[in-house]
Amino acid sequence: MRRLAIAAALALALSPMTHAADPLTPLAERYVRLMLAIGLHDADFIDAYYGPPEWKQQVTDRGKQPQAALLTEGDALTAALEATPVPDTEIERLRRTYLIAQTRAAVTRLRILGGATIDFDAESRALYDAVAPTHTDADFDAALKALDALLPGAGPLASRVEAFRQRYVIPKDTLDAVFRAAVDACREQTLKHLQLPEGEQFTIEYVTGKSWSGYNWYQGNYKSLIQINTDLPIFIDRALDLACHEGYPGHHVYNVLLEQHLVRGRGWKEFAVYPLFSPQSLIAEGTANFGIDVAYPDEARVALERDRLFPLAGLDPAGAAKYYDVLAVLDRLSYAGNEAARRYLNGTITRDQAADYLVTYSLSSPERARQRVRFFEQYRAYVINYNLGKDMVRGYVERQGGTAGKSAERWRIFGALLSSPRLPSGL
Ligand SMILES: [Zn+2]
Repeated sequence: MRRLAIAAALALALSPMTHAADPLTPLAERYVRLMLAIGLHDADFIDAYYGPPEWKQQVTDRGKQPQAALLTEGDALTAALEATPVPDTEIERLRRTYLIAQTRAAVTRLRILGGATIDFDAESRALYDAVAPTHTDADFDAALKALDALLPGAGPLASRVEAFRQRYVIPKDTLDAVFRAAVDACREQTLKHLQLPEGEQFTIEYVTGKSWSGYNWYQGNYKSLIQINTDLPIFIDRALDLACHEGYPGHHVYNVLLEQHLVRGRGWKEFAVYPLFSPQSLIAEGTANFGIDVAYPDEARVALERDRLFPLAGLDPAGAAKYYDVLAVLDRLSYAGNEAARRYLNGTITRDQAADYLVTYSLSSPERARQRVRFFEQYRAYVINYNLGKDMVRGYVERQGGTAGKSAERWRIFGALLSSPRLPSGL
């Protein structure tokens, strides 16, 4: 004890600046409390909280604070964070930038909750630290023509695509077996490259009546609850998508690594709260989607699904090659979903027109289009996090040298991103 005290005094005398108390930690606690307080106004806001239970209890006991007071606290906290010195190490600089950007986003979300109208792109910049590119309808023509050639016939193209995809629906009685096999495959691949802490695991539930198709609810202590929405038929390719996206190496792994390295490893409790409408979500959704390609790049994915998942689902693998050709072209239409959301939320098209747009340009079934519009209404500009997030994460990983041919390097860079507080503008 005495020796330690002398050593500490000596270190302080030698370099008083570097040994000053960490100014971010008390502000990080204020940040957590502010997020929890906003959560009392917005049921979708807190995606996960596994920090000190007494902090949550205190916020809950205090009850809903007026939004104006929370706005004042948000602005004051942003100013206090900006007044702290820029740290010496990269990870600490990322932490400071993270706290500032996340707090600013929360202030914008509060303004939206208070009735402020904000344009789609301004919202995505303020909440997710990024803006999706704008496309004209003509940008999707080439992909629509390619699909028309792949699936010739009479009737609207969307109906032909839907009829073709119906042959690849996972029968309800095999869904759990197929999904669990997909999870095993994703986990196996992930564990070859990333070291996960002992005891990590998740439970799976099947639910209905949601605007999303799957959701990972992180519980802390390296555990997640994954919910799969069975309102609409689930196509065979969605099993691996969901298993990788929600589980390995997607949301479950991202949360596990943040808990292990930042919350426990460094004692940074702000990472034990995850506010959904924040820049962190672009990283979360972007890594979850890009993680599918990291775990199962093109050919490996087709082989796994055709040889393992199709038979489990009782589907004929003979037509698999064409199915993946169709999916590859459909993927080129993904940004049509952002256009529908942008136009609808900006008020330039109606709810029905948004659904029609999704049928025409995303080639969704009318039921799927309506579910998607409900998602726009609930989560708004959040939609950009999936495809723009994936493209930004891919760009970052590949610029660091993690290109498709270099699997080990790709996993290493991807794993480092999952364990860090990096935000979209840091990509
Ligand atoms: Zn997700």
